Amino acid sequence: MNPCPCGYAGQVRSPGQKGPVCRCTPDQVHRYSSKVSGPLLDRIDLHIEVPGQSAAMLINAPAGESTALIQKRCHHARLLATQRQGCSNHALSSASLDKHAALGVDALAYMTQVATHFGWSGRSSHRVLKIARTIADLAQSANIETAHIAEAVQYRRPVAGH
Ligand SMILES: [Zn+2]
Repeated sequence: MNPCPCGYAGQVRSPGQKGPVCRCTPDQVHRYSSKVSGPLLDRIDLHIEVPGQSAAMLINAPAGESTALIQKRCHHARLLATQRQGCSNHALSSASLDKHAALGVDALAYMTQVATHFGWSGRSSHRVLKIARTIADLAQSANIETAHIAEAVQYRRPVAGH
């Protein structure tokens, strides 16, 4: 979704660059983002803020990892999940989560603290656990560590207006 009704809030410009500028008021931005219902957002696994980039930043950006390499890593992580539990992490039921996404003492304490802080529903907590399980698989880690949960938590940051 756009960050505001006009879509230009948070746009980064290099000096002298021309283009549309956001003039939305904080109240308009709040009303706009609150149109997306909480329960709907709750069902979306990854919430990532993507700030607008200037043409200069895009052109001068260093080359990233190749898609082929990322694809290989993703295939391997999915294979790990399927071999372990017979399905993808996303498809894990609540009962299977207890078995295949069990947390150690530190990770459990951290997860409890974060879920309490954000007032997450059981569904939200389960989604974070599944994402953390995937992050651990991508790192080829048998256990879900606190760092994997911390990364997963970043993908569920509260959206303005919620
Ligand atoms: Zn705007």
